[in-house]
Amino acid sequence: MPSLTGKCAVVTGSTSGIGKAIATAFAAEGAHVMLNGFGDAAEIESLRHSLARRHSAKIAYNGADMSKPAEIRGLIQATEKELGSVDILVNNAGIQHVAPIVDFPEERWDAIIAINLSAAFHATKAALPIMQRRKWGRVINIASAHGLVASVQKAGYVAAKHGIVGLTKVTALETANAGITCNAICPGWVRTPLVEKQIAARAKAEGKSVEQTAKELLGEKQEMLEFVTVEQLGALAVFLCSDGAATMTGTALPVDGGWFAR
Ligand code: NAD
Repeated sequence: MPSLTGKCAVVTGSTSGIGKAIATAFAAEGAHVMLNGFGDAAEIESLRHSLARRHSAKIAYNGADMSKPAEIRGLIQATEKELGSVDILVNNAGIQHVAPIVDFPEERWDAIIAINLSAAFHATKAALPIMQRRKWGRVINIASAHGLVASVQKAGYVAAKHGIVGLTKVTALETANAGITCNAICPGWVRTPLVEKQIAARAKAEGKSVEQTAKELLGEKQEMLEFVTVEQLGALAVFLCSDGAATMTGTALPVDGGWFAR
């Protein structure tokens, strides 16, 4: 039987990139999934429909804006109502802005902290009572290599990602004897729309091709010179929900192609 049969999962920011791959991996393991995120309504419905058709699971969608605490609470309530529970919460939605601190727009700082950090607090706060009642739960926070080390021009992102690693540890400690685990995944470079924008901006600024810039980006940080794939992150999220990971909690797991081995 697929390993997550009957579990109910909510994955924030799952209309694209890493979140979409995690939602797909969960559905393939038999979980019911609440999708969330922005995008074209017809494309989102097509994703929802194709996951539901391919896997015998309930797949729902809620368009909560993760910068709005009331909508985040609404997302968790809707998941419990429509799927039956909230057993697995993946705090994944995220945005980026690249600029030196002196030029960093204040509204981009506020938006990054709200979506990349505060949203995880609001969603976890709303979901934990449901998990505690059922004496089982998995919270997975999608942090980043930038949750553990810094790079220039990413003040908002690095601050939020270091914050979410801290939130992961507190959540783990407070749920340690409740059948619940909380872990952070810290990917290096993954070639999603979030990173494509950064590659394109840098290629334009330096007058180089997108592929040359992508190679250089990897060369600066990621020893393997390969992007981490979204499927690899989906597989890790499934593992963190398995019995094999039942005593792993409070960790920040790098998936970084050797970034931190340097
Ligand atoms: P992406 O741009 O492909 O996906 C981001 C998702 O978040 C989309 O579904 C988008 O609609 C959603 N989103 C953005 N703002 C939202 C809001 N206000 N409310 C609801 N949903 C919102 O990016 P990705 O690379 O898949 O990023 C997913 C997570 O992984 C982010 O937290 C990001 O920081 C993290 N991450 C990415 C990389 C990478 O290299 N791509 C590396 C480390 C960590």
